[in-house]
Amino acid sequence: MEFDYDLFVIGAGSGGVRLSRRAAAFGARVAVAEEGRIGGTCVVRGCIPKKLLVYASRYRDELEDAAGYGWRFGEARFSWSDFRRAKDQEVARLVSIYANLLAQAGVEVVQGRAVVVDPHTVEVAHRLYTARHIAIATGSTPTLPAIPGIEHALTSNAMFELPELPQHMAIVGGGYIAAEFACILEGLGCRVDMWYRGDQILRGFDDDVRDAVAAQMSARGIGIHVRSDISALERHAGGVALNSREGLLGQYDAVLYATGRIPQTRGLGLEEVGVALDQDGAVEVDAWSASSVPSIHAIGDVTARPQLTPVATRDAGLLALRLFGETSRAADYDYVPTAVFTTPEVATVGMTEAEAKRCYGQPEIFRTSFRPLLHTLSGRSERTFMKLVVDRESQRVVGAHMVGKDAAEIIQGIAIAVGAGVTKAQFDATIGIHPTAAEEFVTMV
Ligand code: NDP
Repeated sequence: MEFDYDLFVIGAGSGGVRLSRRAAAFGARVAVAEEGRIGGTCVVRGCIPKKLLVYASRYRDELEDAAGYGWRFGEARFSWSDFRRAKDQEVARLVSIYANLLAQAGVEVVQGRAVVVDPHTVEVAHRLYTARHIAIATGSTPTLPAIPGIEHALTSNAMFELPELPQHMAIVGGGYIAAEFACILEGLGCRVDMWYRGDQILRGFDDDVRDAVAAQMSARGIGIHVRSDISALERHAGGVALNSREGLLGQYDAVLYATGRIPQTRGLGLEEVGVALDQDGAVEVDAWSASSVPSIHAIGDVTARPQLTPVATRDAGLLALRLFGETSRAADYDYVPTAVFTTPEVATVGMTEAEAKRCYGQPEIFRTSFRPLLHTLSGRSERTFMKLVVDRESQRVVGAHMVGKDAAEIIQGIAIAVGAGVTKAQFDATIGIHPTAAEEFVTMV
């Protein structure tokens, strides 16, 4: 049978764009449908603008720290509208780069919402497109619990477009987005309370890391309220009230809900053509990103895999190779490094101490906590925490964790070694770069 395309991708976010370009580079005829802006969550309302906000939020510390080094400045003031203008310009520049990359690769962009009508046909704006392969890369969207007044909550999507910065903000949730926005807003001068239902924020991370970052966030003045169940939100003249069953918890200018993201599969026609979805609506895929319908694959946040851009782009590359290349490789999810861009940052690769205990019995643990050289003159009390988790038997380093300045930059390098199976003795035999914080990773005893 003749198809219009070899591959029709639905969703031009990080995963969909990478897949389209890679497939086209193999000579495939490719189209990609997008209903919003090319670039998706990461470029438009996620990683990139978030990191720009993180940078913006850290200048206040840097200006304060500079005083300890002899610098004197005039009064510092942050302009949200100036920041937004600069951020919007940069996002627009990236969106146009993505569009150009697709055009240069010969990928046809179809603007509009796509629906799968059969295993080889997609409909966009009343037009049918046939393809040998269809790939779902529609990503995820914030999810909110169904409680009274939840319509008064903001999601992370709105945070990038706020007309003005709130002075006093509540954040519900204790995951990546909640922790990152708590630090961003605090850094920009906002008073912030986090409300989290569990015992300690950042569930899933190493317990020492969670305690270390929570302590430092509290020390910065962020109110972290754990074991809190929010039962209702109410709008008042001046803002939004947050209530538990016991009564009023607080009144805020605005409330951000960061309670997870769910796959965007609704209304795509997937179940109708036989694509199996899990209980959260994620496309069920095998290690080759294949769904239960052989001609339909899925990558990125629309699956139940880690919701991280580099995972989506890696899997996109593997899928292009699988469908149009000469070799293929299954995806694996061991040793996926990740960072939470709090201030100070959290970054990690491999197992937590608790996971290593389950897997290896009694792992060897190495920890260090110190005041970085930077802060001897700045006077800031911020500390850096590092931890290595080592399998006693093989001496392999199975986990590396850090809380501190530049943690993400440092752990990215360490992740190469940990993924390659480095031993603790090889860490110890590595010469440090002096004076750095990172050198502490090779001197832990
Ligand atoms: P997370 O899954 O990280 O965190 C969700 C938080 O909300 C958890 O603390 C969870 O509690 C809590 N929660 C869930 N449901 C409810 C509820 N009904 N009521 C109250 N609290 C609830 O999701 P995020 O929204 O923060 O981010 C989504 C994903 O996006 C992340 O998991 C990550 O994969 C990705 N991301 C990555 C970033 C990065 O790489 N730096 C940055 C931002 C997002 P509990 O712990 O009890 O389940």
